[in-house]
Amino acid sequence: AKDLGRARYHVFDPQMHQEAIKTLEIENDLRRAVERQEFIVYYQPIISLTTGQISGFEALIRWLHPTKGLIHPTDFIPVAEETGLINAINVWVLHSACRQLRIWQAHPVRTKNLTISVNLSAKLFLQSDFLVQIDKIIEQTQINPSSLELEITETVIMQNSNEIKTILQQLKERKIKLIMDDFGTGYSSLSYLHIFPFNALKIDKSFVNRMLDNQANMGLVPAMISIAASMGMAAIAEGVETEAQLEQLKSLKCDFAQGYLFSQPIPQHLVMDFITSKTQW
Ligand code: C2E
Ligand code: CA
Ligand code: CA
Ligand code: CA
Repeated sequence: AKDLGRARYHVFDPQMHQEAIKTLEIENDLRRAVERQEFIVYYQPIISLTTGQISGFEALIRWLHPTKGLIHPTDFIPVAEETGLINAINVWVLHSACRQLRIWQAHPVRTKNLTISVNLSAKLFLQSDFLVQIDKIIEQTQINPSSLELEITETVIMQNSNEIKTILQQLKERKIKLIMDDFGTGYSSLSYLHIFPFNALKIDKSFVNRMLDNQANMGLVPAMISIAASMGMAAIAEGVETEAQLEQLKSLKCDFAQGYLFSQPIPQHLVMDFITSKTQW
């Protein structure tokens, strides 16, 4: 009875009321943003630790708000998910990133095999016309499907495992690469993992951050790298910020790395410069 009382009290919580208003404001703003295409894509390089070269870029959306400036995805993706606006946003990012990749790949220096990774939310995956949309984008942008990587979080997969499995299979048939994002933060059962056709596991930055802190944390990253290897998947470490972390990851035979040590996410117009100036790590 006590709990119920508290719950009823919360309905009239002025702070919650403020938050509801704020969400509504963002929602209206976001609707306009989708119509006027106020979004831009930043790109963060992913480095192959076997070759020391750039293997591709992850596309990370930003909202260029007319009065508030640059807004990061963590501040609007949740609202976009709640309101269903996420689908239009996801499709827009996919299209922009693929079109951009085609342009970079045409550049004469070392860019033929570049890949592009795009974060997709569960909502889009579960849309009935998702595969049609993907095929349309590939057709329109003329990219090689094997240079497209889709990142999905493990929480999504576990919640709708059967439906997702079928869709992932169809993406695999198209030679599109699949990455499990934020690996280690959700509740995926390891015995389940092999039934999904993932090409790579992306080790969440929280683990990479703490990798060198103490003995207990030290063990987690190697464990995740060997899980990936034992299932024939590549391991990608995100959030690499120090030389020490990089050295450790190399000695653990981690396949790819990404993080501020190499570069922050950068706007599209700086990407070609980055590719031609930084060549080897
Ligand atoms: P994520 O997919 O896990 O992306 C990694 C986040 O870590 C990015 O934040 C990136 O800027 C940041 N990061 C990269 N290197 C480092 C580092 O060395 N240190 C630290 N501390 N952080 C680093 P960002 O760009 O703010 O994106 C946040 C999240 O928003 C992403 O997490 C992803 O889940 C989501 N997101 C971004 N773009 C899209 C999109 O186009 N669609 C959807 N559905 N979600 C997106
Ligand atoms: Ca990601
Ligand atoms: Ca992540
Ligand atoms: Ca994340």
